[in-house]
Amino acid sequence: MPTRKRRAPLKGKPLAEYKKKRDFTKTGEPAGRAVRSRSKGRLQFVVQKHDATNLHFDLRLELDGIMKSWAVPKGPSYDPKAKRLAMEVEDHPIEYNKFEGTIPEGEYGAGTVMLWDRGTYEAEDGGGVESLREGYERGDLKIVLHGERLQGGWVLVRMKRPGRPQWLLIKHRDEFAQVDLDVAKEITTSVTTNRTMDEIAEDVSSGSKRPKRPAPRRAATRRPRRPRSQRSN
Ligand code: MN
Repeated sequence: MPTRKRRAPLKGKPLAEYKKKRDFTKTGEPAGRAVRSRSKGRLQFVVQKHDATNLHFDLRLELDGIMKSWAVPKGPSYDPKAKRLAMEVEDHPIEYNKFEGTIPEGEYGAGTVMLWDRGTYEAEDGGGVESLREGYERGDLKIVLHGERLQGGWVLVRMKRPGRPQWLLIKHRDEFAQVDLDVAKEITTSVTTNRTMDEIAEDVSSGSKRPKRPAPRRAATRRPRRPRSQRSN
């Protein structure tokens, strides 16, 4: 009789690369830690829009206590014909799913981070976390997203190229697919705070451990400030 596979133990130092890249006395990003997966409860996903050296979207999928992460330069698209490059990056802590703010100048990933989408996800074949692990290892990760902005079936396909793994993020043809819906371009506000990138950037203290100070601005590109009467901090 086949025995049920047990949860994979945490191996090595799961977030070593994440921690090595960051100075937590300067950045407001969470130091984080890998946690044992809850056997019950759904797996989380987030997409963060990140205005770093190059603007991109970070797709993060919870797996075995950390967030597997990909930088997607053009972001996701609902068009099944759009194959979006997704560069695998270092695993992030699950706490990162709540991070929205600005990483200070001079720090790794300096720039504004917006929580662009969040929700839960699952293996498309219903095979649970084992199917997700196998799909990730195989480089053919078929998932269903239950986000506020991203829904339905998607696949991440790893390309056979040397170096850091590069994948393609592709929408499956299902009832959510929509030709020409470049959702990353159309939706430009935070899923949690409804702020624009500019509004998050202005709120320097939320993501920085430095005291709030007038940030150097690119004056020419700055938009007129909106009335902020509803702001609480
Ligand atoms: Mn990023």
